[in-house]
Amino acid sequence: MKHPLQQAEFLLTAASDEQLPPPGEPEIAFAGRSNAGKSSAINALANRTRLAFTSKTPGRTQQINFFKLRVPGLLVDLPGYGYAAVPKELKRHWQEFLSRYLETRQSLVGLVLVIDVRNGLGELDRQLLAGYLPSGRPVLVLATKSDKLTPSAGRNAGDALMRAITVAFPAQARNVTVVPFSATRRIGIETAEATLGRWLGIADDAIVDATTPRERPKERAPRPRGVAGDPKRPA
Ligand code: GDP
Repeated sequence: MKHPLQQAEFLLTAASDEQLPPPGEPEIAFAGRSNAGKSSAINALANRTRLAFTSKTPGRTQQINFFKLRVPGLLVDLPGYGYAAVPKELKRHWQEFLSRYLETRQSLVGLVLVIDVRNGLGELDRQLLAGYLPSGRPVLVLATKSDKLTPSAGRNAGDALMRAITVAFPAQARNVTVVPFSATRRIGIETAEATLGRWLGIADDAIVDATTPRERPKERAPRPRGVAGDPKRPA
């Protein structure tokens, strides 16, 4: 079975509470500051370019987009926050809409928070977690663009991010996992898939990712020594 996130289908867009689908199937929401790499992360996981439109004009997508998974469940793309050029009133409207969804949505089973690993935990990320974490539900932080750092700097930045979350939310930090991630280099995809699969109630060994061969160890046939290509041996 491929991972259920792959080949998700667009379902609907909601710009207000009334437009949300009735709660039912488990929902996994993706949130993040504009330009953090949320659309790229969704695309990397769903393996379908332009599933969530990667945009060069951050802040344009102000609605909540729902995608139907191949198993019972929905992927929910929340509006990116923190884009300065958005009028204040509109910004407030959609920040309230976003917080209401995160704080009260019954069918929400987990939150994926995308944070540019080079920026660390921002004030708006903190506010979002402050509203969501008291529900006791889990968070997977994708520390994205980790390809822009060396592996050790990436690990340090990931650790610093986890420490900042622990300091800010000591009682709930155990519900948060930080994973170094890169959409471009496909780092952290399998870890993210395993976590999201668990949130959807799918056993790890039921998922064989057929489309990300780069993460699998390469199989090399052992080269028989002293046989082929050995100039000392007569053909
Ligand atoms: P969003 O606004 O959070 O949806 O961010 P996007 O996915 O549109 O990405 C914003 C910019 O960051 C784009 O130019 C992407 O190409 C770039 N980007 C996203 N993820 C990565 C990553 O993992 N590595 C690198 N190097 N660039 C990335």
